[in-house]
Amino acid sequence: MLRAAAASWRSPGATSDGHAVDILANVQDGAGARKAAETQVQGVGLFRTELCFLDRDVEPSVDEQAAIYREVFTAMGDRKVVIRTLDAGSDKPIGFATIKDEPNPALGVRGMRLGLRDEGLMDRQLDAIALAAEGSAAPVWVMAPMVATEDEAEWFGAKVRARGLMPGVMIEIPSAALLADRILRHVDFVSIGTNDLSQYAFAADRMAPSLSELTDPWQPALLGLIERVARAGAEAGKPVGVCGEAAADPQLGCVLVGLGVSSLSSAASAAPLVGATLARVSLEACRSAARAALGARGPAAAREAAAAQLV
Ligand code: PEP
Ligand code: MG
Repeated sequence: MLRAAAASWRSPGATSDGHAVDILANVQDGAGARKAAETQVQGVGLFRTELCFLDRDVEPSVDEQAAIYREVFTAMGDRKVVIRTLDAGSDKPIGFATIKDEPNPALGVRGMRLGLRDEGLMDRQLDAIALAAEGSAAPVWVMAPMVATEDEAEWFGAKVRARGLMPGVMIEIPSAALLADRILRHVDFVSIGTNDLSQYAFAADRMAPSLSELTDPWQPALLGLIERVARAGAEAGKPVGVCGEAAADPQLGCVLVGLGVSSLSSAASAAPLVGATLARVSLEACRSAARAALGARGPAAAREAAAAQLV
């Protein structure tokens, strides 16, 4: 198996033959962003805003939200920040936003669906993001979680553009992966959330340890969905990132690049090794590993087959 010293990688991220890949960090507040900024990452690939408000029963004002978001933008200097609108509900309940007593919250009104139900909630958050982005050196990209249809992508894309910001959506519901080409007509980038995409593709609760083989990000069916999204991004000439746990696994990161993904965002502590590993392999090796993993019978075989190509 390929090993690489984190120290051997220098940003910006790239394969050994110079194919550029953004190596980014997932953060949840200013403190996390300041830590991430000490590493070589090229920015934040996922700022989970709902995690700022887990203990709130009353929605913070636009000004208060803006102050919280600004901390992250400031910490990153001129590096890019992809901020995600509230993904409240299911595994991340929030007092002021989550619908109570849903029989099946993972399949309920969560993520962007809350904004569709209460448009003011979405508008106030986007106003706060726009306010925080004013005068910030960091390019601010704004994405919505749990988008299922082209109409939803269009609705969100128009709102973000109206505020002069760059819109994107997460691809974490299989319907969105299947229609990525159409969704990309309305937004400027997509980011694949492999945690939920595997949960929904395999009908397997991401929190259930007994189902962890089904939700293993090396599952060839999941990789096939990612390949499809990456192809749609390449055809549209728009970035396709991965910001789920899959992007924290250095070997899988190489496979994702081989599938056509243009950025990898993981915990800041994992990102340096992801970047270092990628810097040691060629794009062709990544593509061979991707083909081998796609053709494998299951996650263990996919790991093994990919490792044989990444030597
Ligand atoms: C995902 O679903 O992969 C993701 C990145 O979002 P979260 O883990 O916050 O649901
Ligand atoms: Mg998710």
